[in-house]
Amino acid sequence: MAVNESMVQDIVKEVMAKMQLASAPTGNHGVFQDMNEAIEAAKKSQKIVRRMSMDQREQIISVIRRKTRENAEILARMGVDETGMGNVPHKILKHQLVAEKVPGTEDITTQAFSGDRGLTLVEMGPFGVIGAITPCTNPSETVLCNTMGMFAGGNTVVFNPHPAAIKTSIYAVNMVNEASLECGGPDNIAVTVEKPTMETSAIMMKHPDIPLIAATGGPGVVTAVLSSGKRGIGAGAGNPPALVDETADIRKAAEDIVNGCTFDNNLPCIAEKEIVAVSSIADELMYYMLNEQGCYLINEEQQKQLTDVVLKGGRLNRKCVGRSAKVLLSMIGIDVPDNIRCITFFGEKEHPLITEELMMPILGIVRVKDFEEGLATAKWLEHGNRHSAHIHSKNVDRITEYARELDTAILVKNGPSYAALGFGGESICTFTIASRTGEGLTSAKTFTKARRCVMQDSLCIR
Ligand code: NAD
Repeated sequence: MAVNESMVQDIVKEVMAKMQLASAPTGNHGVFQDMNEAIEAAKKSQKIVRRMSMDQREQIISVIRRKTRENAEILARMGVDETGMGNVPHKILKHQLVAEKVPGTEDITTQAFSGDRGLTLVEMGPFGVIGAITPCTNPSETVLCNTMGMFAGGNTVVFNPHPAAIKTSIYAVNMVNEASLECGGPDNIAVTVEKPTMETSAIMMKHPDIPLIAATGGPGVVTAVLSSGKRGIGAGAGNPPALVDETADIRKAAEDIVNGCTFDNNLPCIAEKEIVAVSSIADELMYYMLNEQGCYLINEEQQKQLTDVVLKGGRLNRKCVGRSAKVLLSMIGIDVPDNIRCITFFGEKEHPLITEELMMPILGIVRVKDFEEGLATAKWLEHGNRHSAHIHSKNVDRITEYARELDTAILVKNGPSYAALGFGGESICTFTIASRTGEGLTSAKTFTKARRCVMQDSLCIR
């Protein structure tokens, strides 16, 4: 068949259209097939973002807050459906918390020094395009709070989300871009790839245009990021103990600890993972947990069965992470009423259900002689993560000693762990707690770098 001019033009048009499709977001704002293209798009949008006024950035953040509130239920349902982990009501609360308490541009402040020799300002500016790796345990929560903080600082962000939570993460990425577009801002303030893999993660980590990487996840990813040769923010694993001594309000301690432990089926990294109780009050604590807080006591045989299921072959069984106590118990043939929300038992600190970070509503209690033994036991159980630890005591000296010894990014005293996220506690919320690298609860200022601007011998008007 002879090829005439108009056929050639049609073929050229078709090829051009396909090429455009390949580089355009595939159906969602900020979603690309190729990691390099995603980074390129974030780079382009960052050039616009860095010239935006703080006021414009704040307007976009306020729309992200509104959309987060409006979509809290959808995001919560998507997260549970896609990952099979956590529960919808608590995930709704987590999104509301993000909308209300993740700081925006107000977090970025300027330091000024003025004196005889003039005026010096230290201003906090953007890094540029930040790489972010996010977990499946709080997928959209992390995408949202990372974007808000990073964008407030004048950055754009490239996400490599957990593959098991990609739909939920994409929904959040799309949402923040829509917020920007709604306010006349650029598309692609946050981008991601359709199919995140270790390869796309490696491309991101090695990319010359990404100066900073924030990793939220287990020890593997934090170590990978800290070995990348780039500046890294490492928000790693925890195994938070809750110590209860004889001075505590035992009934309240039982309530706070079980509330914290069962929040979103124990998915938050800060949630109580085991209890260390001084012997003289241990039985009383157990009494309240069983009779008032919906805990279910398992015997030694059941502990073995549960261990075999949740740590199958010695490895964390992902199918059990973030499941309810009722579902976990059903896996070992125990049927309980719906009001059972936590599984408990007394055990040694080395018990696998106590020493491993399970992220399930299972609270083993280690009985100790006194506060001193409790302190040493809690420190051992925290495994040097320096992430989170909690204490129930009315003795200020002991609380101080515990805080110094455990040296964690978060320490909640006489409350549920989630008070540290601003839920029933003061201060900000984040789902990226930089335990390994020491920034603590991350916020906009964490994602900025300091610039000193000096005027010699002028502008000091004192
Ligand atoms: P995970 O470590 O399996 O995955 C986290 C992310 O890292 C995912 O995107 C995953 O794809 C990626 N990843 C894993 N190994 C990697 C590697 N070697 N190189 C590059 N990327 C890699 O964790 P998860 O199951 O999604 O989340 C639970 C873990 O994360 C728990 O240990 C929990 O304590 C921790 N966590 C910590 C924080 C915090 O703020 N410190 C917050 C949430 C979760």
